[in-house]
Amino acid sequence: MAEDFDLAVVGGGILGLAHALAGARSGRRVVVIDRDARANGASVRMSGLVSVAGHPTGAAARRARRSREIWGEVCAHAGVRVDHEGLAIVARRPEAASVLAAYAATEPAPGCVFYAPEDAHALFPQFRGDIAGVFWSPDEIRVEAKSALPKIAAWLEDAHGVAFRWETAVSAIGDGALATSQGPVRAKCAVVCPGDDLRSLFGDRLSSLGLTRAKSQMMRVRYDESFELPGAVSTDLSAVRMPALQDAEGADALRARLEAEQPEHLQHGVVLLASQSADGSLVVGASRTLDATPDPFLLQTIDDLILDELAAVFGKRPKHVVSRWSGTYAFSADRPVVVEAPEENVRVVVAASGFGASAAFAVAEETVAELLGACAA
Ligand SMILES: Cc1cc2nc3c(=O)[nH]c(=O)nc-3n(C[C@H](O)[C@H](O)[C@H](O)COP(=O)(O)OP(=O)(O)OC[C@H]3O[C@@H](n4cnc5c(N)ncnc54)[C@H](O)[C@@H]3O)c2cc1C
Repeated sequence: MAEDFDLAVVGGGILGLAHALAGARSGRRVVVIDRDARANGASVRMSGLVSVAGHPTGAAARRARRSREIWGEVCAHAGVRVDHEGLAIVARRPEAASVLAAYAATEPAPGCVFYAPEDAHALFPQFRGDIAGVFWSPDEIRVEAKSALPKIAAWLEDAHGVAFRWETAVSAIGDGALATSQGPVRAKCAVVCPGDDLRSLFGDRLSSLGLTRAKSQMMRVRYDESFELPGAVSTDLSAVRMPALQDAEGADALRARLEAEQPEHLQHGVVLLASQSADGSLVVGASRTLDATPDPFLLQTIDDLILDELAAVFGKRPKHVVSRWSGTYAFSADRPVVVEAPEENVRVVVAASGFGASAAFAVAEETVAELLGACAA
């Protein structure tokens, strides 16, 4: 006998959970269906940084702030520990210092500050390398993704009555029902959050959007001496990727210098993002290699590039690499979030950037409000 729901969400990653929350908060009966036994995609492999700064004025900046707000509520209610708050972008070169200082003074970066080298060294003694200043954003939070996802799912089930169907693959959606490997599930409307599976559901639609997949290498490392990160930490390599800085005055000069001095980092899409777990170890990444079918091989060259950048900030490489892994996510050069409407009552939502988890809750709120309006009409 098919079950009846108002909203079915395909995908139990962070985007799927965010849509389930938005549906449940609207008073709807929601089911989340995932082919795996637990979330095992990008959402549990990520660095866990909920990023806020770096968006130009307007919708993107508003969405980032709204999503951060909901992340805060979810962490508090679902018992997810916030490991640290804030993001320090260490400017290793004067070119990075100049674009970051200018951005810190603008309206889309409220609360952000740029510290000149003397102040930066005094405030952040952890940064022992030669630095040209530090951009500080206070609003970012960091969560341990691997444990956060199951906690959020359990909270949605217990506090919001969301039903979960794990180990259940969805093969088709239409006529008010989802065909699954465990039999049909009836739902008035559906949201598909397939991560980087761009072929199984509505593949014809997704194939026309110029999406591809990105593979990212990550490590957990440990230094011999213990020290506390002030927040998440990144460098010039991240600054050139920030959407708000793409056309900023001085960005070309920074790009040119990085091309001359760190061509291998750019070739492998390496940026430094370091965050700290409750046990003091650091999660560090990441690379970005684009391919329709990412290969499964981890390259030592890429690990070395990440560790070199870490050493440039903290004065030396960590003694121990505790673990290594890779993750893949959907990627588009110009559409960080894709929302498609293949049917009146179905939406397909793909986070197509390396910061999809940050935007998840605001995107879900917008999509569910629009979809439930369309379903009710
Ligand atoms: C190494 C790495 C580091 C990252 N760091 C950050 C970060 O610090 N901050 C940030 O904001 N973002 C980060 N990201 C990006 C972020 O992880 C992703 O954008 C986000 O997790 C995508 O969530 P999702 O739910 O769309 O996808 P996923 O987490 O991949 O979930 C998709 C789910 O859909 C299920 N599924 C797909 N098709 C079907 C089907 N037909 N039937 C049933 N189930 C199906 C899959 O089993 C999977 O569980 C990082 C990504 C990686 C790989």
